[in-house]
Amino acid sequence: MEYSLNVCHLYGDLMNTYGDLGNILVLKYLAKQMGVKLTSEVVSLNQPFDKDKFDIVVFGGGQDFEQSIISKDIQEKKQALTDFIEDNGSVVAICGGYQLLGHYYVDANGDKLPGIGALDHYTNKQKDHRFIGNVIIENEETGEKYHGFENHQGITFLGKGERPLGKVLEGHGNNGQDQTEGAIYKNVYCTYFHGPILARNNQIAKHVLINALKRKYPEGNLSKEEALAVGPTF
Ligand code: GLN
Repeated sequence: MEYSLNVCHLYGDLMNTYGDLGNILVLKYLAKQMGVKLTSEVVSLNQPFDKDKFDIVVFGGGQDFEQSIISKDIQEKKQALTDFIEDNGSVVAICGGYQLLGHYYVDANGDKLPGIGALDHYTNKQKDHRFIGNVIIENEETGEKYHGFENHQGITFLGKGERPLGKVLEGHGNNGQDQTEGAIYKNVYCTYFHGPILARNNQIAKHVLINALKRKYPEGNLSKEEALAVGPTF
């Protein structure tokens, strides 16, 4: 049986801080080791999001200006994205993308940019301050440690049904207050980690691929253990 996955690079032309695009290269590389063909395409402004066409959505980080434009456009995609998420579609959302999946993001000027509320978090503004630097977190369910780099002024607070991607061991994470970093909801992985987070933390990439494969091929015979064993450690 030939396995294939199709990735939507949501606003990939606008949201790509620190090379978040590299996450798609990592997914492609690991998918190939698993014998899975992975294709991707950008869906951006004024283009509909077709929830039946995609298995994975990658939504990168970005600056306030780009977020203000996307905040308006994404309302047109709100229903389809929410349905995709509720139907266990896989998503990797980083920083600005993470913020816009929640209820709102208050930018550095104090403007409240609506998100789509597909996830129950919200993001407020810090007072003339940004969290910048290395972060180390531990996922308390799997014991996996993840390493990343954060650069954000927004402070995010998790809501119903969301659990953190990890507990902050070093750095600031979601808000610098409750030791949470990122969010997991169904098959959605959100984080403030920039750059190709999946290259540094290939366990997350494998979870995303496995979840997407299991959803698309419920009769498939790729066991979780087999899939996790695939591919070199970066
Ligand atoms: N503009 C947002 C913030 O400052 C997101 C930043 C980002 O994606 N790096 O919080």
